[in-house]
Amino acid sequence: MINIAIDGPAGAGKSTIAKAVASAMGIIYLDTGAMYRATAYAALKKGIDVSDENAVAPMLDELEMDIVYENGIQQIFVNGENVTPFLRAPHMSKAASDISALPCVRYKMVELQRKFAANRDVVLDGRDIGTFVLPEANCKFFMTASAEERAKRRYKELVEKGERCDYDTVLSDIVKRDYNDSHRAVAPLKQADDAYYLDTTAMSIDEVVAAVKRVVKEKIK
Ligand code: C5P
Repeated sequence: MINIAIDGPAGAGKSTIAKAVASAMGIIYLDTGAMYRATAYAALKKGIDVSDENAVAPMLDELEMDIVYENGIQQIFVNGENVTPFLRAPHMSKAASDISALPCVRYKMVELQRKFAANRDVVLDGRDIGTFVLPEANCKFFMTASAEERAKRRYKELVEKGERCDYDTVLSDIVKRDYNDSHRAVAPLKQADDAYYLDTTAMSIDEVVAAVKRVVKEKIK
């Protein structure tokens, strides 16, 4: 069985690489960030403060999350609603980062992620996959790039989608999110001891995919 864990900060290119590697290997990709975004979406829709554990916990009891693949693309349903189109807006990134720091949210998502990965070949990307969700994963990566390069990539992605934004705000959001994600009490962003470190600042997507595939091949030989 192949479990590939790709962790790293926002905008490091994890999802692009995870998707490409999963498709090249014919295995499933789970974007765990989308699960935190979907949880934040559900809270915001109900007017719940995403940093208030006492308000979020009861909502989680009622929250049903289903992950399905339509034409190979991950779709997340929350209580029957496909929330996927709403998850990438900049305010959702901040809300996801805030709600993901709540222990009750992490435990629920981690349980779903472990169930998802059990007994199948998967690539998961996130912040805590190699350290906490799947500590036994056979291939772990920690992917990063300079904050400026990550902001540049995120800015380009937003502009291409027609969103109005400015580079400095994107950069400061990324720096804040890095801080939040690596300083929370439960399962913070950090490199697993046995993860392969990849700094993608000066690498093309093809180079990163090739590097990941090379390491995976080596590990599962
Ligand atoms: O990867 P993405 O930017 O979509 O993740 C959104 C937020 O969800 C992150 O900033 C992080 O706070 C949280 N997250 C997490 N653990 C994961 C994946 C994402 O805490 N495994």
